[in-house]
Amino acid sequence: MRVKIPIKISRELIECQCGKLATWAYLPKGDWYRCDGCVPRGCDCNMLFDEQGNLVKEWLDDDGRQLPCCEWNYYEEGFDFDEL
Ligand SMILES: [Zn+2]
Ligand SMILES: [Zn+2]
Repeated sequence: MRVKIPIKISRELIECQCGKLATWAYLPKGDWYRCDGCVPRGCDCNMLFDEQGNLVKEWLDDDGRQLPCCEWNYYEEGFDFDEL
């Protein structure tokens, strides 16, 4: 009988500048990694404006916080360099 042994994956997850696990990666730059608390929030790509430039609607996350720019990618369980 053959037993399937789960492969133990050891991953070096990327940390934020504050030392917490980074869950956000800024894709265009490629070397900006931030945790949920340090990621810069609030960008006009998450806002809708009318023709006069007035804010009509802003998309927020489940906790009511502003969202990071759409160029930040979110990884719920962290990430390592291979995953980027
Ligand atoms: Zn941080
Ligand atoms: Zn943006």
